[in-house]
Amino acid sequence: MRKAVILGATGAVGQRFIQLLDGHPDFEVAVLAASGRSAGKTYRDACNWIVREAAMPPAVASLPVVECTPEAVRAVCDVDLAFSCLPGDIAGVTEEAFAKAGIPVFSKASAHRMDADVPLLVPEINPEHSALVERQKRERGWDAFITTDPNCSTTQLVLTLHPLRRLGLACVRVATMQALSGAGYPGVASMDIMDNVVPFIKGEEEKMMLEPQKIFGELEEGSIVPAGMPIDAMCHRVPVLEGHLEAVFVEFDAPVTRDAVLDAWSGFKGEPLELGLPSAATPVEFVEGDARPQHRFDVLRGKGMTVSTGRLKISGDGLSAQFLCLGHNTIRGAAGEGILQAEYFNAKKLF
Ligand code: NAP
Repeated sequence: MRKAVILGATGAVGQRFIQLLDGHPDFEVAVLAASGRSAGKTYRDACNWIVREAAMPPAVASLPVVECTPEAVRAVCDVDLAFSCLPGDIAGVTEEAFAKAGIPVFSKASAHRMDADVPLLVPEINPEHSALVERQKRERGWDAFITTDPNCSTTQLVLTLHPLRRLGLACVRVATMQALSGAGYPGVASMDIMDNVVPFIKGEEEKMMLEPQKIFGELEEGSIVPAGMPIDAMCHRVPVLEGHLEAVFVEFDAPVTRDAVLDAWSGFKGEPLELGLPSAATPVEFVEGDARPQHRFDVLRGKGMTVSTGRLKISGDGLSAQFLCLGHNTIRGAAGEGILQAEYFNAKKLF
């Protein structure tokens, strides 16, 4: 059993990590870290638990919360890895300090996603990019490494696009309807979002356009050559608690049929399922019905690790298609994705 510290343990994603790691066969939550506001309190006192599916695990409730430094963490326990869900501006130096101190970091934050020597991994899509950690360790002189996964709205988008690439996917436009929990806790002010849609999420559209280029890029001689796929995004915050819904419009180089798109999604399995990783689920499932997928019925598909697609329409000439995709932002888009990546590194003996 490997011992983990959660950096940012009191936040929306940190809580998800704690819930999903409760009873995990490979990883155990040993240390909880957050800001100076929480350090020194028990987790029960520091955290406003917002996970609806489960109560705070009793094993963590009485643990002390410590500051996010390797020294403070090691004073509690000699951990084997860190799951980082810190705000982006703090994550940069903090994650480097942990990797430098020999603690591998699996990060949910944006700080290092686009670093040339840091993987931006979705294990079903680009597991070979994990090799970048060897370059990182060599060039930075570290025993450990930082590895990242994408922004929540990007993760579900690339999972639905990846199987379509072999059909000649040429360009993508997407409009998102994103959940409140995507902004963390307490997130968007209630007076801004009640009875409203906020048609702007700072930095989100840039991430959705940029991150897929690295994820779909080719690893050549230790560097990622970006994919160069045109992607445009418009991002909106809507008053649902969890789950991002995205309306996706794609164009192809050659005509496609509805069956070809459905077969591409249903045939997509990926290495995590083949390896039997504990958090692996069917990556994409098409949901029949005029009004599906819906948050209410579909957001927890595959225990939150499956992206639901629906409302597929193909143009008359077969050169364009549109569909919806729905993913759980704090599970598939955050903690579940981070754990899946750590399971992958564990299975491949990469740390
Ligand atoms: P959040 O709810 O605001 O939680 C932030 C966490 O970071 C809390 O534990 C907080 O501790 C801690 N923190 C804040 N300032 C700190 C400091 N100066 N030093 C140490 N710890 C500090 O945010 P979140 O939604 O969980 O997001 C965490 C990260 O994951 C962000 O980088 C976000 O972009 C990314 N992410 C989020 C989602 C999502 O759906 N929410 C999805 C993908 C990626 P205190 O309680 O002590 O303040």
